[in-house]
Amino acid sequence: MKPIIAIVGRPNVGKSTLFNRLVGRRKAMVHDMPGVTRDRNYAEVNRFDLPFILVDTGGFEPETSDKLLQQMREQSRFAMEEADVILFLMDARDGLTPADRDVVLMLRRINKPVFYIINKVDGDKQEANAGDFYALGVDQIHTISAEHNRGVGDLMDEVLGALPYNRDPDDEEEITKIAVVGRPNVGKSTLVNRLLGYERVVANPTAGTTRDSVDTRFMVNKKPYLLIDTAGIRRKGKTVQAVEKYSVVDALRSIDRADVVLIVLNAEEGVTEQDTKIAGYAYEAGRGCIFVVNKWDTVLKDNSSISKFTDDIRRNFKYLPFAPILFVSAQSGQRTGKIVAEVDQVMEQYCKRVSTGELNRIFNQAVDENHAPLDGGRRVKFFYATQVGIKPPSFVIFTNRPEGIHFSYERYIMNRFREAFGFSGTPLKLMFRGRD
Ligand code: GDP
Ligand code: GDP
Repeated sequence: MKPIIAIVGRPNVGKSTLFNRLVGRRKAMVHDMPGVTRDRNYAEVNRFDLPFILVDTGGFEPETSDKLLQQMREQSRFAMEEADVILFLMDARDGLTPADRDVVLMLRRINKPVFYIINKVDGDKQEANAGDFYALGVDQIHTISAEHNRGVGDLMDEVLGALPYNRDPDDEEEITKIAVVGRPNVGKSTLVNRLLGYERVVANPTAGTTRDSVDTRFMVNKKPYLLIDTAGIRRKGKTVQAVEKYSVVDALRSIDRADVVLIVLNAEEGVTEQDTKIAGYAYEAGRGCIFVVNKWDTVLKDNSSISKFTDDIRRNFKYLPFAPILFVSAQSGQRTGKIVAEVDQVMEQYCKRVSTGELNRIFNQAVDENHAPLDGGRRVKFFYATQVGIKPPSFVIFTNRPEGIHFSYERYIMNRFREAFGFSGTPLKLMFRGRD
């Protein structure tokens, strides 16, 4: 599993500025107002080929009873429990505050590397004042300017040195990356809230000030999942004055980074052209796919409503006959509890390997029962098949006429593989290679 670095500190010390600096995204919209960074934001970062997960926690203000700040304190504690390394940020302009002292007392009790960092040291003048912080009695104080990128590189060199890299790939826990896509108003952000559990994410009417895409990691039964571009989904769903709608481009970007795509449809409206565009891309990108028919609570149901909607989906998405369909209500939570289990199943198929022996037994059977059509009058011969990859499962088939294999025959082979091995929820990739 990738190590986790958490940034903690009072509101407004520059946590989200540092987060964005390290993630390398364009500057987030930050305000000179405490508490604009509310959600616990996660991003996967690669620095010098060392991957880690960076967490930007909310603020930290032990004396106040204010609801928001209290929630943020909870989130910081959570990050401190989860994190491998903690970056504790203070503000050179404010000097050493009582709140900082309190937090330092807490941090000294935990047995993890903690970096004490003074931010907003933009120049030599502030550098000279930073000495006050040595009153904290910690061994080393780092001074940086997150905004002006001063000292950040040196700091990170040291931080990376403190990370517990475990280079045994067998020990690497896989995180399942989930994209939630669909037209505006189908209920994506309601669904995302459901998946995360409201208590995990601070819901606040003024949320959505961080303008960049942020992924959110969550755990179900001790298994980690990553929801891609959570901020984007929630922002665009919620902001009243949102000029930019959750567009196809956003969907494509999320799909590219996902393992499993939840294609959200609106039961009230049925399948639309934009739905088929987005789903088509998920298929072409070779991702695991699940249809989530949302707002099922609004449908006047009889015995045939599920089969009618299922037919509608199968007719409109002919290329995705293998994708499971779930009928849910994100608003009431009806059946949303089944989504993660379905994601697990699709992920398992998406990562599945079959043995070469078994594969060729099935392949030869398929070819014997239904020969490939002649190619310009010449017989198409097959040698053998082998699985060359996963995500999605990919196969190479050696043949004398790689160019002469018709699409329908390719589909026939794929279906035979599915019958034999399952592979539900995942596209397959077949490649024909020449050999005499
Ligand atoms: P957070 O609440 O801890 O996430 O703090 P923000 O990242 O939102 O930053 C709060 C304010 O401090 C913003 O106005 C930033 O522009 C400003 N800020 C952040 N880093 C620096 C810095 O290195 N120098 C200066 N002068 N201002 C900074
Ligand atoms: P997004 O634009 O795809 O993120 O959609 P939202 O999550 O913002 O939802 C759009 C509207 O549909 C909101 O008014 C939601 O309250 C409503 N909504 C979402 N899910 C459901 C549902 O399962 N049933 C009903 N009846 N309404 C829903």
